[in-house]
Amino acid sequence: MEIDRTKGEVWVFAEQEDGVLSDVPRELLGKGRELADTLGVKLAAVLMGAGVEPLSKELFEAGADKVHLVDDPALKVFRSKAYRHAFVELIKECGPQIVIFGATHMGRDLAPAVASQLGCGLTADCTELQIGEFTDKRGACQGAEPKVVPGVLQQIRPAFGGNIIATIVNPYNWPQMATVREGVMKPLERMPGRTGELVKHDSKLDGVEIPVEVLEIVRRHSSINLKGSRIIVAGGAGVGSKENFKLLHDLADALGGAVGGSRAAVDLGYCEHERQIGQTGVTVRPALFISCGISGAVQHLAGMQDSAKIIAINTDKDAPVFKIAHYGIVGDLNVVIPKMIKAIKG
Ligand SMILES: Cc1cc2nc3c(=O)[nH]c(=O)nc-3n(C[C@H](O)[C@H](O)[C@H](O)COP(=O)(O)OP(=O)(O)OC[C@H]3O[C@@H](n4cnc5c(N)ncnc54)[C@H](O)[C@@H]3O)c2cc1C
Repeated sequence: MEIDRTKGEVWVFAEQEDGVLSDVPRELLGKGRELADTLGVKLAAVLMGAGVEPLSKELFEAGADKVHLVDDPALKVFRSKAYRHAFVELIKECGPQIVIFGATHMGRDLAPAVASQLGCGLTADCTELQIGEFTDKRGACQGAEPKVVPGVLQQIRPAFGGNIIATIVNPYNWPQMATVREGVMKPLERMPGRTGELVKHDSKLDGVEIPVEVLEIVRRHSSINLKGSRIIVAGGAGVGSKENFKLLHDLADALGGAVGGSRAAVDLGYCEHERQIGQTGVTVRPALFISCGISGAVQHLAGMQDSAKIIAINTDKDAPVFKIAHYGIVGDLNVVIPKMIKAIKG
């Protein structure tokens, strides 16, 4: 029987590691809720792993109507082929119309593998998703009338180095698939006690040869947690040196915040790559963002412009960062920051 894909669910890949859900499924369920409600279909999370059924409760509380659970010892640790095979079989069985993954290491590995196996499109690193129309003008040269396709997933992302915002659609080969940057979508408020439908599926991995065996997992834990910080002090090329970045750490310490950087600051070796904020770094929206010696290029703003309050310090009164700052200080950060620290400590 042919599946009517327009009635298909909206799916979110519920990435987990060692039985702990990552933040990104919650963020994607926030956006997924909006998409599913617009289409009038169910929002489902796809949960894969070994012994992970208890996580379904968290997914219902985060907004999922349904959880598709594939529980198999072969899925205990992420291995591309095993996850891809199980995911593709699940899509063939259930016919979702939209599948969204986090643009994490796992999502960036799994989503293209699934899309290529199914021969459907995939838009990577989306910063916005919405439901809209698509006007199909193929055949216009032969005099055919344009055909309007409603209910299409509009996959929005920066393109050409962030100089344009592209809207990409895939009206032909469904499911419509996208990866979404971490930290970009807002999770819903947790709804304690909310429940939904749990559907258990076979992994269909019997007889499938998995060419990778995981012998050992070595983890490097990072003490940098920009996404979880309510206050961020970020520095750019204008800070001038790695040594001078200490000034930013002093300000962040005085405020109980974390230190971030622009790509230029990272490229110049002033701070670690994990601190990079922007299109190719992390996306943050703290309560307070203090920008120091950062010009405000679009690629940087993409990662911080939703901060609740932005204070910018720059010697150039025409720096683009002042266009989005709530408070601007035209001055030398070497003079301004010590005064701020003194005032805070006082
Ligand atoms: C595909 C692509 C992806 C990118 N991704 C990112 C990204 O994720 N994040 C990111 O940040 N960038 C990204 N970039 C780079 C981005 O375009 C800019 O080059 C970068 O953000 C500039 O960093 P900056 O503002 O620190 O440096 P600059 O543009 O050099 O600005 C330095 C600023 O410091 C000011 N200044 C100098 N001295 C002082 C002082 N003593 N006190 C106060 N102010 C001072 C100057 O007036 C100037 O405005 C990307 C670019 C591309 C093409």
